[in-house]
Amino acid sequence: MTVARILDEKGSSVLTVRPTTSLADVVAALAEGKVGAVVVTEGDAIHGILSERDIVRALAQDGGTVLDKPAGDYMTRNVVTCRPEATVAEIMTTMTGGRFRHLPVMQDGKLAGIVSIGDVVKRRIEDAVREAEQIREYITTA
Ligand code: AMP
Repeated sequence: MTVARILDEKGSSVLTVRPTTSLADVVAALAEGKVGAVVVTEGDAIHGILSERDIVRALAQDGGTVLDKPAGDYMTRNVVTCRPEATVAEIMTTMTGGRFRHLPVMQDGKLAGIVSIGDVVKRRIEDAVREAEQIREYITTA
């Protein structure tokens, strides 16, 4: 199973904001989009990623006034990305090693989607169920 297959099923839309977008607007976008992270972009360039965890950390450190501050002040700048050809096993290793749950997908220098740990777990469960069914069928027909 590859990232491309996951994007075929879930679509390639990515919630993006600009570095100047306020954290209050990011919070609203996360809630409305029912997602855990936004990619911070300007045109085709990726400037960073901001997840709900960054916002919790910002609130804990600096209090409620951070909601007026721009996303660029709190985003993670060194964004790890993957390619559509990457396998689920590869991105699981990347996410576990980097201790994050979101991985933007880049193709030809452009943002082509995003996969979350939830997408990965869903496919792993589907694979496990399919394998169990195949083994059951093999045993009953052998
Ligand atoms: P998450 O587990 O995705 O909520 O993110 C945990 C931390 O890792 C936050 O500080 C995020 O900004 C950061 N982060 C999330 N995804 C990535 C990524 N693909 N590359 C680099 N940092 C990330």
